[in-house]
Amino acid sequence: MPGVVSETARTHEVTELLQNLIRNACVNDGTRESGQERRSADLLATYLEGSGADMELYEPSPGRASLVAKLEGSDPSAPSLTLLGHTDVVPANPDDWQRDPFAAELVDGVVWGRGAIDMLDLTATMATAFRHLSLSGFRPAGDLHYVAVADEEALSTFGAKWLCRHKSDEIGTDYLITESGGFPMEGTDGYVRLPVVTGEKGVFWCVLTVKGTPGHGSQPLRTDNALVKAAEVVRRIDEYRPEAELHEAWRRFIGGLGLPAELAEPLLDPARIDRFCEELPLLGLARQAHACTHTTMAPTVVTGGTKTNVIPDRVRLDVDIRSLPGWDVSDVRDMLDDVLDDLADDVEVEFRSEETATTSPIDTPLWDALRRASQRFYPGALTVPFLTTGATDARYARALGTVAYGFGLHSPAIGFEQYGAMFHGVDERVDVESLRLSTEMWMALADDFLT
Ligand SMILES: [Zn+2]
Repeated sequence: MPGVVSETARTHEVTELLQNLIRNACVNDGTRESGQERRSADLLATYLEGSGADMELYEPSPGRASLVAKLEGSDPSAPSLTLLGHTDVVPANPDDWQRDPFAAELVDGVVWGRGAIDMLDLTATMATAFRHLSLSGFRPAGDLHYVAVADEEALSTFGAKWLCRHKSDEIGTDYLITESGGFPMEGTDGYVRLPVVTGEKGVFWCVLTVKGTPGHGSQPLRTDNALVKAAEVVRRIDEYRPEAELHEAWRRFIGGLGLPAELAEPLLDPARIDRFCEELPLLGLARQAHACTHTTMAPTVVTGGTKTNVIPDRVRLDVDIRSLPGWDVSDVRDMLDDVLDDLADDVEVEFRSEETATTSPIDTPLWDALRRASQRFYPGALTVPFLTTGATDARYARALGTVAYGFGLHSPAIGFEQYGAMFHGVDERVDVESLRLSTEMWMALADDFLT
């Protein structure tokens, strides 16, 4: 392994870097002025200074800066790779936490704080690996980019989306790795499985405007009340049960996990999976399995009415729709028509986002290199493809033709259920051992894939 300092020194370094990123508290609440990721872009630029990499800072709106660092390859025909992290985090309410979410306390080998797992941990490990590769004189065949972007938590307007549109060379390398994946799951055969995120569901946020006729609240009988109608729409959305679709990534994920047959069989049977998800006591797995095999709809916001004594004529419903690969806007529209049925004429549908699911192929040299690099730390480990139900910056890179995966390496200290609950949740934290594993894995991966 190249490197001028010891692994222990690198682990200290990455831990401190993560703590500083957490303390910068680049909280993105969706407003243009929030985030202020410039602080963390500057911190990372200072950290990488003198390592020999070329660096560029982009700031499309005041304070909303992203950093690009590059090691130029020696062979223009060799595959290029980007390690992509985001520096913003979602808000945290300290009252709900056991520890200050922005103090980045290190307690018994665990760093606490907002962003510890989403995804300042990986942003830090990628930077540390990149710095030490660069310092060691590592010269890749294909280009290696390290990119730390702003604004991932609010549709990436000033981050990856902006870079893809205006500076596509910086992020549109042949291959890219960003967040999620790599939490070890042990199969019944004793070997560890490491999920690699190869795709993500589509995002169709929509606003349903339910129409009625205004009238006096003192005489409700036989009125055309938009709120009553909206309640019926919400009920129909909640009760709607589309058929399960078991696409390839799901089949390969469940098939590759090494699960006991009583779990694997129903999860791979389109006729049994729905009932199984309804009844499974493991709530986290049930929700995940359902979301990975269905286009889902969740009513999330309702606004309407004007006054206590007025029958409302307009109610607005926000619905979060997440589509499976292969669904486009007309499929989603058909599903909504099916749900609304005889109420369709009274409901206006407006899409606020129309982003179809994106996937990357599995049979690539990067897939093989990830497996080899991971096996250094988890001997015999198998990588399995996974479709994430959330959205990441990988989707913008995929639109440029880049093969994009979500990965990182974690210790067994963080289980699948815990990992899921900490994303945007309370008491977010990561163990130093996971930071060590990811840092060393990125170095092993670069050495394998880029030389
Ligand atoms: Zn994230």
